[in-house]
Amino acid sequence: MIDPFGRHISYLRVSVTDRCDFRCVYCMPEHMTFLPKAELLTLEELERVCVAFIRKGIDRLRLTGGEPLVRRNVMSLIKNLGKRIGAGGLKELTLTTNGSQLSRYAGQLKAAGIERVNVSLDTRDPDKFRAITRWGDLNKILAGIDAARMAGLKVKINTVALRGINDEEIPDMLEWAHGEGMDLTLIETMPMGDIDANRVAQYMPLSLLRGKLEQKYTLTDSSHRTGGPARYVHVAQTGGQLGFITPLTHNFCESCNRVRLTCTGMLYMCLGQNDDADLRTPLRASAGDGLLDAAIDDAIGRKPKGHDFIIDRRHGAPAIMRNMSLTGG
Ligand code: SAM
Ligand code: SF4
Repeated sequence: MIDPFGRHISYLRVSVTDRCDFRCVYCMPEHMTFLPKAELLTLEELERVCVAFIRKGIDRLRLTGGEPLVRRNVMSLIKNLGKRIGAGGLKELTLTTNGSQLSRYAGQLKAAGIERVNVSLDTRDPDKFRAITRWGDLNKILAGIDAARMAGLKVKINTVALRGINDEEIPDMLEWAHGEGMDLTLIETMPMGDIDANRVAQYMPLSLLRGKLEQKYTLTDSSHRTGGPARYVHVAQTGGQLGFITPLTHNFCESCNRVRLTCTGMLYMCLGQNDDADLRTPLRASAGDGLLDAAIDDAIGRKPKGHDFIIDRRHGAPAIMRNMSLTGG
């Protein structure tokens, strides 16, 4: 699939549920209203859409959410998609998770063909962890990370940089992650959805953070890529890779290779734009995939050039009204 700007679309992110067992302060309000269950695609329908995309050339698929591992029976979807790895057309099936269910699922994920998972962890301080996630228990996450590694999964840590909350702790996170043989990626907060917190206060430009890290570490630009938008540096002192996802300070749209499917069957061609394509109606309209295939082609033909996120004092309101948990991070 080639979009109007000549970009090869090969990566699909699927939000399998908008629900979550955490309420991270930058992601959703404490009293979040979730979608009525009746609006969700069934797991079989999600699989059918994924398979249609694989047929069209998607070779990397990431499951996300909400928290993907809280959706009931999600393992049946993961097992079926896992069977598509290799000759079935998929190069890779991965998962982004908050880690809360990893102790329970790590072995099954590995057995299904998943090789690596991204675990979102913003701090290793138990009190801060509780303050950021509102409902999370750090020990459970650390045990989940251990379980994943014991099961043979490669773990990458994703950390959202939050001014005045965890920015001072980043060197410690870096040394811990790299010391354990895990890559670390830092993410800027994106202005998505209503939250009951102040985004302007939370926002920490990664260019600033990188400058601070460079006072302590030798960072060398690296050609390392993981299929996503992160740009990596090699850290001489730790020997590990440090990624930066910088939608606000550095626009990464030129090389965008992905589209995102929500759990209701809406396709977002860009995380930072409102245009979407309804795949649920063509999916349900017939047992064959002709209508679905046509709707996918039409959507890819509308993929926009890029987003225009901005966070400054005049733009405290979200640029995009939907929360990240709907489209998936
Ligand atoms: N629940 C899973 C998790 O936390 O990893 C998967 C979904 S979560 C929406 C995916 C990623 O998006 C997480 O790393 C999270 O930190 C990040 N995220 C959520 N809201 C964000 C925002 N407004 N700006 C930047 N990153 C955000
Ligand atoms: Fe849940 Fe992930 Fe959003 Fe946190 S970032 S509330 S864990 S979906």
